[in-house]
Amino acid sequence: MVSAGDTLEALAARAGVPAEDILEVNGLASAEEIVPGRLLFLLAPSGEASGAGELAVVIARDGGPPLRWPLGVGVVVSSPFGVRGGRPHEGIDLAAPTGTPVFAAADGSVAYAGNGIRGYGNIVVIRHAAAVLTVYAHNSVVLVSRGQPVRAGDRIALVGQSGRATGPHLHFEVRVGEIATNPLPMLPEIPR
Ligand SMILES: [Zn+2]
Repeated sequence: MVSAGDTLEALAARAGVPAEDILEVNGLASAEEIVPGRLLFLLAPSGEASGAGELAVVIARDGGPPLRWPLGVGVVVSSPFGVRGGRPHEGIDLAAPTGTPVFAAADGSVAYAGNGIRGYGNIVVIRHAAAVLTVYAHNSVVLVSRGQPVRAGDRIALVGQSGRATGPHLHFEVRVGEIATNPLPMLPEIPR
């Protein structure tokens, strides 16, 4: 979140990334759109510890985590983000019984709702500010339709095992400027 007095140059220097990258990743036309209270995604330079050209997302934490959990209490991360069996796993898997409500992780609008993406089953994609997409896959039921505005915490689907899934779970992705990104740093502590 941008604090009073922050400038694009100061944010870029603090994050160690070029100012133009901050504008591009956040879909901003100019530095004038960087105002206090605005949530920004700052992509750290690739090639350090994480390897594989993966981009880490650094978020100014002043306002707390930008996303809420897409499931309620008792969230179980059954498979983490990263390489799994030699292939990238582009989200996290959250185990939950079929029919468990799935919530929008932040305000936005429904960019896609349907079953047209191979392997994902019944899927919802929500477009948020700052070029961020969240993806909710393997649902038994989808409760929203394309173009619909949603608020953080709205029910958007019910957990299932549609598509390529070995049991009921939610596959949850965060994409920043189309790049699949580990959701965990953007989420609060796991609710108990
Ligand atoms: Zn998954």
